[in-house]
Amino acid sequence: MQTTPTILLPKPQTLFQHRAARFRQLAKTHASLAAYLNLMAELADCQHSLSINSHHTKLPDSDTRCPLAISDWRRDLVWREYLRQIVDYFKHQTGNINAIINHIQQTNDEELEIWADQLLAGEMENLEPGIALFIAAALQVYWVSLAARLNADNIKPAEIAYFCPVCGSLPVASVLQTGGLVKGLRYCCCGLCTTEWNHPRIVCIHCGSSKGVAYYNVEGAGEIVKAEACAECNTYIKLMNREIDISLDPCADDLATLSLDMLMAEEAYQRLGFNLLLITG
Ligand SMILES: [Zn+2]
Ligand SMILES: [Zn+2]
Repeated sequence: MQTTPTILLPKPQTLFQHRAARFRQLAKTHASLAAYLNLMAELADCQHSLSINSHHTKLPDSDTRCPLAISDWRRDLVWREYLRQIVDYFKHQTGNINAIINHIQQTNDEELEIWADQLLAGEMENLEPGIALFIAAALQVYWVSLAARLNADNIKPAEIAYFCPVCGSLPVASVLQTGGLVKGLRYCCCGLCTTEWNHPRIVCIHCGSSKGVAYYNVEGAGEIVKAEACAECNTYIKLMNREIDISLDPCADDLATLSLDMLMAEEAYQRLGFNLLLITG
């Protein structure tokens, strides 16, 4: 008998392509965010073309706990090559983006590595939000392509449920799956390597309590994305339902539902995890 997978590894051949399509779809129904979501679609296009041509000399071992830990894994300098190519892709943009691109182009490798370390460590104070976006995009391509090469059967669960078992990052959201063995199950989705790991429904991902779990959504915003909030530890995570819309993407749908984050801030809940493509400084 087949058992339910505890871990779903990313599929870099389609991940960013699908994300780009989702950003464009969301841009059509979110008029006030359209320019931003279309820009993010272009970024995902660029990540897609880098992903399908990715090459690595150093590969992780699936058997070690947290094989691609952001705190331990020594990055291959290929991620900087990805960054250079992303920046090159956007060099024809004007205004703010152009200033950011110029800044990155004039930055030496040593400084880029420091920025990457700060971003991965969650030390956002010294990072300009615009620069962080491009650094994050390059690091995503790198981590996704390595995570995809692991053997999911050999990966051990993380010691703390809310950390990604592959890279140790926080989730960007959680997703109710559809189809096959995973139908109706909830998975957390890593904001960096996009690995998904199973976590029971209606149980707080942060503290493990099921006592004070409640669901919030913005009036009139539909049923696809809700916030699952825990009164015990005062955190929330978005819960996205693939049964309602199979084309959703945790990263894209998160950026299109920032009004839900505002609602949760008003309710005095703290978000568990963040979106690497939205660093607000
Ligand atoms: Zn991860
Ligand atoms: Zn909790």
